[in-house]
Amino acid sequence: MSVHLDDLPLRDDLRGLLPYGAPQAPLPIALNVNENTHPVPEDVADDILDAVARALRDINRYPDREFTALREGFASYLGHGLSRDQIWAANGSNEVLQHVLQAFGGPGRRAFGFGPTYSMYPLLTRATGAEYVAGTRAPDYTLSAESAAAQVQEAQPDIVFLCAPNNPTGTPMSMEVIAAVYEATRGMVVVDEAYHEFSSHGEGSALSLLPGRERLIVSRTMSKAFAFAGARVGYLAADPVVIDALRLVRLPYHLSALTQAAATAALRHAPTMLSMVDDIITQRDRIGATLDALGYTPHESATNFVLFSGVDDPQASWTRLYERGVLVRDVGIAHSLRVTAGTEAETTAFLEAMASL
Ligand code: PMP
Repeated sequence: MSVHLDDLPLRDDLRGLLPYGAPQAPLPIALNVNENTHPVPEDVADDILDAVARALRDINRYPDREFTALREGFASYLGHGLSRDQIWAANGSNEVLQHVLQAFGGPGRRAFGFGPTYSMYPLLTRATGAEYVAGTRAPDYTLSAESAAAQVQEAQPDIVFLCAPNNPTGTPMSMEVIAAVYEATRGMVVVDEAYHEFSSHGEGSALSLLPGRERLIVSRTMSKAFAFAGARVGYLAADPVVIDALRLVRLPYHLSALTQAAATAALRHAPTMLSMVDDIITQRDRIGATLDALGYTPHESATNFVLFSGVDDPQASWTRLYERGVLVRDVGIAHSLRVTAGTEAETTAFLEAMASL
């Protein structure tokens, strides 16, 4: 007889929860987890490999616990006059968000996000012992400053997650909404800019709001625009005192020497690493226009993916695309599916499969 989770002395507040579970199927056209599907250019890969090889020679020693060179790299990449004492990093922005929750959430505390939004916010919140409360958006997934501020005032959260632009809907978020939410709470405000580099709408970055706002955190990742998802590198910018708070909860030496070396080298090639972004934006807009012509309703996107509705039976369409070698994401929104903008060829394969449904 096999043992079940319920047979273990598991934490009561974890009972009944499901783990993050985007399918990892080896299909030729994988457009389901918003990766950058363009490979890292050969010369950049060579340079990263050299840096990793050098780090390997000192691998008997613990890495720089303060990942100094990497923080300097992020500060200079982000601009906005930031310095390394305002930067934090971890193994993916998921771990960055977990550090924020460990420092500012936890038992008896509350985190808040405007649904539908990134599915890891509630999971990370509950796994670190806090309560998660979901607010709402307008039917087109936009959020006004008034509504956002009123909902946050009502919920009294310790942490607010603002996904800007939003996953899984693609919706951009204005600086006005972010500033209004900051004023409406005494908690920490995390602006998750995982997809910022893909926004072509001129929203700007919440980095510009950092001066004078010590409870504001702007989180980013190398997983999307930087085509570095496999390396697991996320980071944030905030007041130096916030960084001090995060030092209390991180594991010693949490960023391996290999990760630090690879990410620092990749950042030196930021313009090349980001050179695919324009093409991805072109493919994203092509997906929107073509799905519209096919009779679906694509939602406005400032990201590298498109959420589209008008799908009678998302599960059935997902399966038929799967059978054609195309992996998309059923994010649990009625009559909708989400697809990542791939290379031109991948995008063509997806659109042809959609046309044949
Ligand atoms: N935030 C958002 C909005 C995301 O969509 C993702 C990845 N899907 C992440 C954070 C986490 O990315 P990573 O851990 O790879 O940095």
